[in-house]
Amino acid sequence: MSPAPGPRSRRLFRRAQRSLVGGVDSPVRSFRAVGGTPVVIRRGRGAYLEDVDGRRYVDLVGSWGAAILGHAPPTVIAAVRQASAKGLSFGAPSPREHELAERIRRRCPAIERLRFVSSGTEAVMSAVRLARGATGRDLVVKFAGGYHGHSDGLLARAGSGVAALGVPDSAGVPGAIAAQTRVLPFNDLGALDELFRREGERLAAVVVEPVPANMGLVPAEPGFLASLSTTAHRHGTLVIADEVITGFRLRNGTVHQALGLDADLVTLGKVIGGGLPVGAYGGRDRLMRRLAPEGPVYQAGTLSGNPVAMAAGIATLDALGPAVYRRLEAASRELAELLRRSADEAGVAPFTVQRVGSMLGLFFAPGPISDLEDAQRSDRRRYARFFHASLDRGVYLPPSPLETTFVSAAVGSAELARARTAFRAAFRTLRGGRP
Ligand SMILES: *Cc1c(COP(=O)(O)O)cnc(C)c1O
Repeated sequence: MSPAPGPRSRRLFRRAQRSLVGGVDSPVRSFRAVGGTPVVIRRGRGAYLEDVDGRRYVDLVGSWGAAILGHAPPTVIAAVRQASAKGLSFGAPSPREHELAERIRRRCPAIERLRFVSSGTEAVMSAVRLARGATGRDLVVKFAGGYHGHSDGLLARAGSGVAALGVPDSAGVPGAIAAQTRVLPFNDLGALDELFRREGERLAAVVVEPVPANMGLVPAEPGFLASLSTTAHRHGTLVIADEVITGFRLRNGTVHQALGLDADLVTLGKVIGGGLPVGAYGGRDRLMRRLAPEGPVYQAGTLSGNPVAMAAGIATLDALGPAVYRRLEAASRELAELLRRSADEAGVAPFTVQRVGSMLGLFFAPGPISDLEDAQRSDRRRYARFFHASLDRGVYLPPSPLETTFVSAAVGSAELARARTAFRAAFRTLRGGRP
């Protein structure tokens, strides 16, 4: 074991910064939230990432949840090869769009019709426009710590990289646009009722992650999501279930209905692209038909429904079945247990693991964590030390204390054993230091 990153990562990252802002194309990757220099990845295979120095890491980020099968799964790679040989983009209808759309419709009861876009950001941004177009209202409600992509109106008190950098809101968002967003604390029905009493008739939509996974992992309290949709619908407000992370990650389809959330529109991303840039939004036909060319709400995309990306999505969804979800559940339960046990053995407290399926939130704070305020009490410096100690021992965790840890179906007993060894040692390095 030697400290990561190695010399090549360091050299390449230094060079990258001359061309790329912060050396990255998405802020969290820069390691600003944990300090130090990122490892530069040259390939991924199964449960592992390999950096440019040839060091291998058990990957517990999985491209932020997209790589549910692990890296370079042979059937997905074969499908991408086959599709790409026939052309990379047509800008015209092609059969794979329907094939992926039909698979999604079959497995997501709230989605009667849908449209593909190229990212989760686009999916949520477009769903919000549709909701405004359908209701004739302007205001949108989100929860503090919820992340719904980086569109202007949804950056207010957003989770993910925005929260971790300690930037509550982005510069460059016009005040007039921010004023169209209402932000509520998660799991707080009192605040929700109060807002709807005051402004219910002006609210176009509530956007919510059914299992918020961008402030660490913070599940809804029982009854919260059901009350949310009942209250919204009583006021003619639409519910957008942002399932960009949870869709096809927790079960073979969407998860909101099982959690009691009655959604009018649903957004997808990450897993449905199998590692290629794909997002989608869909819902009730009476809403979707308001979209151009059938209706007046405009949205378009040069690369939308890209044939290669569709092929990756189809092959990924076709690989998902009960056996995969069973494997994910077993490995994730084991991972949560070994984290708790290793912390205990090292006498590191407080330490809380919150888990839903193959998603884990790690907090150096007493549990339960039920909103952004709780999550932000997690000791960031401890997380940073734990992150680096794990990385040095061959385990790649999210390089930010407010992100979710993702398990892929490629994680098996060998990877769990490696993680156990790494975590035991990593927690021991925390023991001496005061928080
Ligand atoms: C990742 C994410 C998005 C944004 O998706 P991008 O593809 O990064 O634009 C939106 N909503 C949720 C819940 C996400 O986790």
